[in-house]
Amino acid sequence: MTSAVDSPVWHPFTQHGLQPEMIPVRSARGAWLKTPDGDLILDAISSWWVVTHGHCHPRIVGAIEEQARRLDQVIFAGFTHAPAEMLARGLINIAPSGLSHVFFSDSGSTSVEVALKMALGYFHNIGEPRRRIVALEHGYHGDTIGGMSVGARGVFNAPYEPLLFEVERIPFPSAGNEQATIDAFDAACANEPTAALIVEPLILGAGGMLIYSEQVLRELKRIAERYGVLFIADEVMTGWGRTGSLFACEQAAITPDILCSAKGITGGSMPLAVTLCTSPIFEAHRSSDRSKTFFHSSSYTANPIACAAAVANLDIWNTEPVADRIAALADAHAERLGPLRDNPAFEKVRQIGTITALDLKVPDAGYLAGVGPKLMSYFLARGVLLRPLGNTIYVMPPYCITPAELDLIYAAIAEAPVALAGGAA
Ligand SMILES: *Cc1c(COP(=O)(O)O)cnc(C)c1O
Repeated sequence: MTSAVDSPVWHPFTQHGLQPEMIPVRSARGAWLKTPDGDLILDAISSWWVVTHGHCHPRIVGAIEEQARRLDQVIFAGFTHAPAEMLARGLINIAPSGLSHVFFSDSGSTSVEVALKMALGYFHNIGEPRRRIVALEHGYHGDTIGGMSVGARGVFNAPYEPLLFEVERIPFPSAGNEQATIDAFDAACANEPTAALIVEPLILGAGGMLIYSEQVLRELKRIAERYGVLFIADEVMTGWGRTGSLFACEQAAITPDILCSAKGITGGSMPLAVTLCTSPIFEAHRSSDRSKTFFHSSSYTANPIACAAAVANLDIWNTEPVADRIAALADAHAERLGPLRDNPAFEKVRQIGTITALDLKVPDAGYLAGVGPKLMSYFLARGVLLRPLGNTIYVMPPYCITPAELDLIYAAIAEAPVALAGGAA
C-alpha cells in the first residue's frame, strides 16, 4: 500500500509538486516506525522532536485509554478536572523555581502566542504599556503570525511578511561573538522600553541546530531584569531532557518569567502545550476589572485526555531512570561523533545532550538548495528517518534508542558523502 497521488490531504512543509507520494505508517514501537508492508524505519528525529521515551510507551497509552473512558473533553472556562490540576502541580514542582502558574494550549506555536500576549497584557494591565519584543537572530518560534513575527524571516514566511509585526533582533551568540549579543541586547533595552526578550535557550532548533553557551543566557537574563524586561524561554524543543537537563534554563540556573513547553510534554503522544509564568504576570491579570482578563482560549484548552498523557509522562520522569537514559544516550552520541570530526566531508560537528548535528560541506548554494531532500531520500533508503535542515544533518532520537540502533544511524551518516557524490548527479 502507498498513499494515493490523488489524496486530498495537504501535508505540512511538503512540496507536493516534488514529492507526490507520502510514506504510510501503520504502527510504531520504541524507536521504530512500521509501514503497512512491514518495512521498518528507524525514527532518528523522534517524529519531529516530540517522542521522548519512545513510541507507544505503555504507561502513556494506558493513561490515554483510561481517561478517554472517563472524561473526554470539558469546557475549561469556569470548569476544571483532575488531570489538568495534577499536571499543573507536577509542572510547577519540576520547572525552574519561581514559575507559579500554568496556562494550557495545544501546540508550541500557541504556547508562544500565549507568552507574547501574557507579556503585553502584563504591561498593559500595570499601566505601563510596552510593546517591543527582542528576539535572537535565526530563531524559530512556530508558524502562527506571532510565532513567525518573532522568528527568523525568510522563504518560509515571505508571503505573510506584510502581516508580521516588527521585532528587534540581536545577533546569534556564536562562540567568540557572545559579547556582541549581550551588548546589542543592552543597547536595545536602553534605547526603547521593551516588553520581552524571547529565546530558545542553549540551542536554536529549526534555525539550524545552533548551540550557544549558558553564560550568554545568564547574562541576557541579568540585563532583562535590570530593565524590567520579561524573559520568555521558548523550551518547546529544548524541554523534556533534550539538552541533557529537564529544561535548558536549568543549565544557566535561571528562571524565566515565562516558559513555553510543548512537544515532549505528553511524551509525543498527544498535542498539548503549556505556558508557565511567574506570579506578578498572573497577578497583573487578576482583578475585579473584567477588562484585565487574560483573553485567550482554544476549544480544546487542557483537553483531559492530553493532560492524562502528560501526567503519565511526568510519572515516567519521576519513577523511571530517564535522566540516566539521557546521560547514556549523550555518551553514546559523543563516542560516535568522534570519528565524524576527522571526516573532511563534514564540519561543525556539535552536540548538546541528546541532540547531535553536523554540516555536510557543499560546493555551492545551488547544490545546497537540493541537498536536504537528497539526503533525506538516501537515509530513508537505508531505513533511517533523518530530515536534514539544508546541509545540516541532526540526530534527535527517542531516549529508548539502543547503541546498536545508533550505530545504524551513524553508519548511514558516515557513508552519506560518498553515496551522494556517486548517486546525486
Ligand atoms: C516546534 C517549535 C515550535 C512550534 O511548535 P508546534 O507544536 O509545531 O506549533 C515553537 N518553538 C520552538 C522552539 C519549536 O522548536
